[in-house]
Amino acid sequence: MSATNTPVRNILALAGDGIGPEVMAGARKVMSWLESKGRAKFNVTDSLVGGASYDAHGTPLTDETLAQAQKADAVLLACIGGYKWDQLDYDKRPERGLLRLRKEMQLFANLRPAIVQPALASASTLKEDLVSGLDIMIVRELTGGVYFGEPRGIFDLPGGGRRGINTQVYTTDEIKRVGRVAFELARKRGNRLCSVEKANVMESGVLWREEITALGKAEFPDVELSHMYADNCAMQIVRRPKQFDVIVTDNLFGDLLSDLASMLTGSIGMLPSASLGAADANGRQAALYEPVHGSAPDIAGQGIANPLAMILSVAMMMRYSFNQGAEADLIEKAVRNVLAAGIRTGDIVEPGQKAIGTDAMADAVVAELGKLA
Ligand code: NAD
Repeated sequence: MSATNTPVRNILALAGDGIGPEVMAGARKVMSWLESKGRAKFNVTDSLVGGASYDAHGTPLTDETLAQAQKADAVLLACIGGYKWDQLDYDKRPERGLLRLRKEMQLFANLRPAIVQPALASASTLKEDLVSGLDIMIVRELTGGVYFGEPRGIFDLPGGGRRGINTQVYTTDEIKRVGRVAFELARKRGNRLCSVEKANVMESGVLWREEITALGKAEFPDVELSHMYADNCAMQIVRRPKQFDVIVTDNLFGDLLSDLASMLTGSIGMLPSASLGAADANGRQAALYEPVHGSAPDIAGQGIANPLAMILSVAMMMRYSFNQGAEADLIEKAVRNVLAAGIRTGDIVEPGQKAIGTDAMADAVVAELGKLA
């Protein structure tokens, strides 16, 4: 792509709370480097979300910020939350800002890669040979299932006591749209998809399995499809994680399995994620990119947070929103090389290595990008 015909990408940057502004600054350095080399043009709008938005506007997400998110080509979000806002009413809490954003943008597919950087394999709680080189992608359905199903609630029983209800519910359309995202991803990777549910005990799981099977036959016969019960999948992720390429599953199982898989990688400061919605009439797909980690209030403001998950979120944005795989590969390679050179923040430092701060880590990635380009 030459500098003259590089399209301008409208980005909404939401730094959020805690370490958010620190790691977002690292991501912005990488974006500036891409711009300086003519590899991208960004029109970035900064706005508030979470506790920062509550402090300024009395709500964790203003309608204006939501409208900006819906108009943007992609949203980059760092993290939200902190002790300071823990006592607020439920609807004012920082998390509500993020949940509303995901809901209103109709981000139904959550992509969570679990990648073990070779240089960090010894940091995993699993044996090094089980996880070294691990590269799996979990696609979690994000807007349906038991977290949203009706009826729900806590009800008094006539004879005393109460009854708590949540409903696991999925429709053909909900299963197929997330299934398509997963099949397409598998095609771009190792061409293998494992669909996960509990069809042995749940009707919604039977439907899930039937719809994914039918979708595979009709539209993705070239992708190798397998099925697994969620409890077995949890065991297999710790037993032999490298057997997986792409996993697709529902909201509840995806919540658990993606956290489980993330722990294989050693540090939460390394993991990016993407949440994707449907494409509009112009083919523009709603998308939000964010690290998996939270706002780390215990280290906020100290300049020691690891910015790599945020920087890798920029790589995912380049790949999935802008179809610029070359730039994504470059960022990911720069991160790999920096780690291989023993450059570390405090969360991933090993004996004999010196920990550097957030800015210095981002600068190291930018310097490596300069060498690679
Ligand atoms: P957390 O991810 O913020 O922190 C867990 C531990 O990991 C902490 O010790 C923290 O210092 C460390 N850590 C996290 N990210 C790091 C980084 N980039 N570099 C170095 N160390 C890092 O989870 P928590 O402590 O359970 O939650 C803290 C706050 O974050 C809460 O308010 C929670 O609601 C919120 N939270 C937000 C998100 C999000 O924004 N998506 C996700 C999880 C938690």
